[in-house]
Amino acid sequence: MFNKDLEYEIEEDTQCHLFIGAKNKAGYGVVRLGNSTTLAHRYQWQKRRGVIEQPGIEVCHTHSGNRHCVNVDHLKLGTHAQNMADIKEHSRVYCDAGLHQLDAINSFVWNNKRICKACRAGGGG
Ligand SMILES: [Zn+2]
Ligand SMILES: [Zn+2]
Repeated sequence: MFNKDLEYEIEEDTQCHLFIGAKNKAGYGVVRLGNSTTLAHRYQWQKRRGVIEQPGIEVCHTHSGNRHCVNVDHLKLGTHAQNMADIKEHSRVYCDAGLHQLDAINSFVWNNKRICKACRAGGGG
């Protein structure tokens, strides 16, 4: 079932493995397996780390950017509830790009929104 090798390119800054192929509306990579499809990062986890047998366990990213990242070092297992809590926590600590920590040095509040200085300096990258 997991005999297919995913194609990806490595993003140098983040070491993300950016999946090359179809993506769903949410931006996650999708892989076709026979008649069904599965999420690329979930596929990659199971190929590298073993099949997930427990029901209700999700594979989630440890960063908030690059949802099509399939680097298993950037992935972890959790329940849906844990994942939702993590996403909330992550978005509080990291900027929208998911690359920079919103600490006192790298961020400031403007119009009730926390602004990432690094993203701002990079011209929105
Ligand atoms: Zn990544
Ligand atoms: Zn940023």
